[in-house]
Amino acid sequence: MKGTVYLIGAGPGDPGLLTLRGKEILEKADVVVYDRLVSPAILGMCNPKAKMVDVGKMPTHHKIKQSEINRLLVQFACEFPGGVIARLKGGDPFVFGRGGEEALELVAAGVEFEVVPGITSAISVPAYAGIPVSHRGIATSFHIITGHEKAESSSNVIPAQAGISSVPVGLDFPALAKCPGTLIFLMGIANMDFIARRLMECGKDPKTPLAFIEKGTTPYQRTVMATLETAGATIARENVTAPAITIMGGVVELGQTLAWKKNLPLAGKRLVVTRAAKQASGITARLTALGAEVIETPMIETRDVIPATCSERCRTKAGISSADFNALANFDILAFTSTNGVESFFRQLFAAGYDVRVLAGKKIASVGKITEKKLLEYGIRCDYVPEDHTGEGLGRLLASLLVDHSRILLLQGNLADDTLLKLLPQATRWVVYETLPVAELPEWKREAVVGADAVVFASTSAVENFCSVILSYTTLGASPLSGSYALWVGERSSESKDLNRESLTTPASCSPRLAFCIGRMTESAARKHGFETVTSDETTMDSLVKKIVEHYKKES
Ligand code: SAH
Repeated sequence: MKGTVYLIGAGPGDPGLLTLRGKEILEKADVVVYDRLVSPAILGMCNPKAKMVDVGKMPTHHKIKQSEINRLLVQFACEFPGGVIARLKGGDPFVFGRGGEEALELVAAGVEFEVVPGITSAISVPAYAGIPVSHRGIATSFHIITGHEKAESSSNVIPAQAGISSVPVGLDFPALAKCPGTLIFLMGIANMDFIARRLMECGKDPKTPLAFIEKGTTPYQRTVMATLETAGATIARENVTAPAITIMGGVVELGQTLAWKKNLPLAGKRLVVTRAAKQASGITARLTALGAEVIETPMIETRDVIPATCSERCRTKAGISSADFNALANFDILAFTSTNGVESFFRQLFAAGYDVRVLAGKKIASVGKITEKKLLEYGIRCDYVPEDHTGEGLGRLLASLLVDHSRILLLQGNLADDTLLKLLPQATRWVVYETLPVAELPEWKREAVVGADAVVFASTSAVENFCSVILSYTTLGASPLSGSYALWVGERSSESKDLNRESLTTPASCSPRLAFCIGRMTESAARKHGFETVTSDETTMDSLVKKIVEHYKKES
């Protein structure tokens, strides 16, 4: 049985506009075949184990041909029997997305497929600019048109006009010019001067208002107003670039009153957040709410300690084996000091074929409220939580209990400090998970990280690790063309491998130059690597967020 292909619309850019169904499939996908316009935040929602295949245009790669994409989808359906192959496309897959062509190919190859519609940019991008595509008394219809259709493929080819050497777009201009509804052009920026002139020649009012909306629904959204007669000149003057849509008609004027999207202080800024995934969500949400595009790039990852790797049994032995779960009978109190510890412990417990009944009759202690809440997810209520939510607080609380301290078991990570062991010298510690530096970034994230405006660091280890990861796949060298520096992103090619690695000690010259830091130690580590730094006054995220906003306010 072949895998099933899901043609999924990713929406126009804002990750919040992906459908629930789309997200559900991405989270369980075995393969994700995605286009260039799909936002990094949506790619970040995909199953981390999925094979990620970029078929969009990369500046350094050729765009993969449509026939090749069709072939790849069939190939993956065969390679992943019973699997989930997500074909992720910008907007809606059937609105100028060539989704129909892909579906026909899948039918021909006998591959099952499902279509997950997306929010098309044609409607949502104007909505984000405060322009309703229809409005009572102004427009009773709207029309979505490609501005990119080759002349010869149209059944209604307009002969070349005097002064126009070639006809880039073959549309039925007389019919469009007469049409009283709103006209929405996708992919039309490059040809808009021609389109506007043809529409005027065919009788459309030169004063018809129009708007170009660039990178709509993203932190980089920009609306540029014009009229039909000023269209071409406005695009050139304002340097309107793709992706952008053009909307024409009386409804455009409503945008003056209804533009609801606030000018947020961090709009247009892309920030890399290097905290561990779980800690990052708080700062990510806040920076996003302030208008930034945030690329979460944790620099550490945790993994369960595998029992086979621990050589001997000792007081601080690593990993848990089945025999250990039997040994739980020797303990009266189990103490957890992190949510990672809780998750690792239960994962290993379940994997060994046990369930929560092995904890019957035991007292459970937690360092604080978050760990306590995590335990509750497993149906375990805590007996002891210290008031001050610190390791020391927990140690003192446990030490004060009238129990034999050798019957206390601490379930911790490899980096946990010895506070608890010192306060409870006879307690046993099992290391249930370990924290490792991340060795590389997923390929889809690299370009976004390198092209970001700044990096947020909360520790020196994050700085060091970020720099070594960035250097592992970017290479800085003299460009033969310009005499300046060129940057390769991606796997280092054979010719760039020879470049002297020793000289590559300044990632800031091939990544964002600016670092927002928490703490003086973090700041000096970032400076050492060539970053310009802005450091928070206090060692809190609140203080850092404030500093980031102030920095960009000053800059503008
Ligand atoms: N299937 C997509 C359209 C693909 S064609 C959809 O339903 O939206 C690509 C064109 O869509 C671009 O050239 C541009 O005109 C438009 N587009 C896509 N995303 C956009 C965005 N965020 N802002 C402005 N235009 C966008």
